[in-house]
Amino acid sequence: TTPMLSAIAGGKGISIGLLVKASEVFHELSVVDMVVFDKTGTLTYGRPTVTNVETFGSERIETLTLASAIEEPSEHPIGQAIRFFALREGTQPAAVKEFRAAPGKGVEARLGETEVLAGKPSFVEERGVSLTAQVRARIDALSNEGKTVVVLARGKEAIGIFALQDTPRRGAQRLFEKLRQRGIKTVMLTGDAQRVAEAIGNKLGVDEVRAELLPTDKVAAIETLQNAGRKVAMVGDGINDAPALAQANIGIALGAGTDVAIESAGVILIGDRLNDVLSALILGKASYRTMT
Ligand code: ADP
Ligand code: MG
Repeated sequence: TTPMLSAIAGGKGISIGLLVKASEVFHELSVVDMVVFDKTGTLTYGRPTVTNVETFGSERIETLTLASAIEEPSEHPIGQAIRFFALREGTQPAAVKEFRAAPGKGVEARLGETEVLAGKPSFVEERGVSLTAQVRARIDALSNEGKTVVVLARGKEAIGIFALQDTPRRGAQRLFEKLRQRGIKTVMLTGDAQRVAEAIGNKLGVDEVRAELLPTDKVAAIETLQNAGRKVAMVGDGINDAPALAQANIGIALGAGTDVAIESAGVILIGDRLNDVLSALILGKASYRTMT
């Protein structure tokens, strides 16, 4: 389909930047009663920074060197943040072998003879690493602050944890206020931990939070909502979000999002402003009223 550009200027200095792919989209937008959001990169900027590093039975520099080595091939923003942090502390890059990324979970590789893992706590546990009460307590404390915790394991031992924080997008809180005023329910879906998701969700005023989801779980969550009679708009930015954007009654992609997300969506927020989700819904209602 040939994209149709709907650029609308409102009051003084207010402009909306939306790309609507087909005219059916207006009808879909007009009936939406629930908006589902991806967290990382959508409700937040998706550029996390490392705020804490804690080590268990290893030197700090050793932990940082190992972490930057295993995250070296990673394209995930978490991997980039850990590499950047380690580099700033003066670590020398080391090369890993047999790197594998487990989407939504973490990364694994070999350094010499040693297996190295970095990822969410449940991922390293899945791979046979047992977390001591001390490590677990630190993970819980940092997660409760809304930080994403990555565990670094060498062999079967957790030797360090990294806490990362991402910034909520400007206007996110206000958007949820506005959606609530219009009687539209909101849900946040994320692969991140429950505590982290709740901390951010509560801060922003999201009605419901569903965490620790794999990309296929996000699709299933939307399907369940639809089967319950909801008309669902899904807002996302990442490759991981593409199937969910396609499943939703209407997919809305952030303009700076990945190509796959943009291809799967019916509406693109070309200005990359979260508040234009509201503009899209208002535009849908207005257009549909005048067109019928
Ligand atoms: P989201 O749904 O919030 O966009 P993802 O599905 O991309 O998150 O990732 C979910 C979780 O998997 C992250 O919060 C992190 O704990 C872990 N993870 C993913 N990639 C990496 C990586 N390269 N290094 C460490 N942990 C990772
Ligand atoms: Mg995302």
